[in-house]
Amino acid sequence: LPQAAEPKMARIEVNSPNVSYTSDFIQSKYVYQNTKVDRDVSGNITATPIDTVYLFRTQRRVPKLGVMLVGWGGNNGSTITATILANKHNIDWPTKDGLQKPNYFGSITQASTVLLGTGPEGEVYVPMKSLLPMVDPDDLVLDGWDISSKNLADSMERARVLDYNLQTQLKPYMENFKPRPSIYIPEFIAANQAERADNVLTGSKQEMMTKIREDIREFKKSSGVDKVIVLWTANTERFSEIIPGVNDTAENLISSIRNNETEVSPSTLFAVASILEGVSFINGSPQNTFVPGCLELAEKKCVFVGGDDFKSGQTKLKSVLVDFLVSAGIKPRSIVSYNHLGNNDGKNLSAPQTFRSKEISKSNVVDDMVNSNRVLYSQGETPDHCVVIKYVPHVGDSKRAMDEYTSEIMMGGTNTLVIHNTCEDSLLASPLIIDLIVLAELCERIQFKVGNETQFQKFNPVLSFLSYMCKAPLVPRGTPVVNSLFRQRCCIENILRACIGLSPINHMLLEYKMH
Ligand code: NAD
Repeated sequence: LPQAAEPKMARIEVNSPNVSYTSDFIQSKYVYQNTKVDRDVSGNITATPIDTVYLFRTQRRVPKLGVMLVGWGGNNGSTITATILANKHNIDWPTKDGLQKPNYFGSITQASTVLLGTGPEGEVYVPMKSLLPMVDPDDLVLDGWDISSKNLADSMERARVLDYNLQTQLKPYMENFKPRPSIYIPEFIAANQAERADNVLTGSKQEMMTKIREDIREFKKSSGVDKVIVLWTANTERFSEIIPGVNDTAENLISSIRNNETEVSPSTLFAVASILEGVSFINGSPQNTFVPGCLELAEKKCVFVGGDDFKSGQTKLKSVLVDFLVSAGIKPRSIVSYNHLGNNDGKNLSAPQTFRSKEISKSNVVDDMVNSNRVLYSQGETPDHCVVIKYVPHVGDSKRAMDEYTSEIMMGGTNTLVIHNTCEDSLLASPLIIDLIVLAELCERIQFKVGNETQFQKFNPVLSFLSYMCKAPLVPRGTPVVNSLFRQRCCIENILRACIGLSPINHMLLEYKMH
């Protein structure tokens, strides 16, 4: 049986001539092995193994990190704030089932383990966060914006997510947190949000974006953090139209903001403000914040952007289940997903335009798995895929998701799987916020050289490394989108291993297969 991870974090040091430790860096010479595939005119394939030498360098010093949440007073914003404070101050609370201690369950960096290797004791698992120096979520300094003026204690109460006793204990810590006024452009979210919009900036788009940039600078200065990351966990917006001359290039987008063009959304204004401040920006909602001009700006300024849309519940399961079915040689023919929820996110999604953003984001999550199997699916063939979301106020944050997967099995048989998934939405999304921030910050400290290159480079500004946490992963132009949860996790695990000179986990366990 695998051993449980050690309760206290053990220090890991790699013993290899390819790995060196200085006071500033962990450096690893790493051979990346992949396979080049060529197909000739008659369709025959040649596969050639390719070795590429990488030199990874990771800064060891973990900075004091500030996080600014857009939508700080929402269910996710208040829940993550409460969770960090409860963990930091070690606040436990009585429940009808006994004393509950705070934790970060659901975060892969904080609560999952990875197989490091094997030793006399058998397989050794360590917490993912112990592979490389990472920010401790307890040390995050939080700030943010919301169109609702409620302080964070009142926001937590409005969210109806956490136990009452815990709320009472956290109140003194949270009532002094007040969201900064934000950019509110009513036509981008549902009309039903107007009633909470009492904390809004005025002026032109350029003026409001300038204020957001000032806020980022002011927060950095007044809190004394070394760096800042901005994350959008505000309401889902409608999609922005991509209009040539308006938002198609970085230059056009900047001048559209100057000209107060209508088709520039609040989330894009936040993204542009962050990029111009050299601050990584992550989008936890489904809308196309990263219009082409915004992506080009991130590339030009070499600032990380990541997203889109937290992959928390139903979609996470879908990206496991369809992967399992297709890789088992079973052919999903129809996938039907109903959701109902009663929180403010559900209320906002009850408008057709914002629902459409969610529908698009939820619908593409099986594409890579379907396209990977030409034995089951012909070119262009896809399963029927239907997504329904209904707003039912009574259930609050406790989202219900019901899915039916109908698959074709051998000899024309049918297999139907029905899944009912219930839980507090924000308790699934909040740990993803931790992982997005912790891993994005780590990426800012990783550099590498490929082959004989003389200069170190950073990852592409479009941080596909964060795909595991995202329903509609943002990837650099022309590169594959991976939705399969296992592949996404392997990517994180193996890149972390590469940075300390360890080969990818291959699950072969050859050492146990000898005579
Ligand atoms: P929420 O409605 O409780 O919180 C959103 C907050 O954003 C609200 O407080 C609202 O006042 C604020 N807001 C709206 N527009 C704003 C703006 N322009 N600037 C600043 N603040 C603004 O929603 P939530 O449940 O916290 O979810 C947040 C987002 O995360 C939603 O878009 C949702 O679709 C997305 N998401 C959530 C989950 C999940 O499991 N909870 C999963 C995937 C995606």
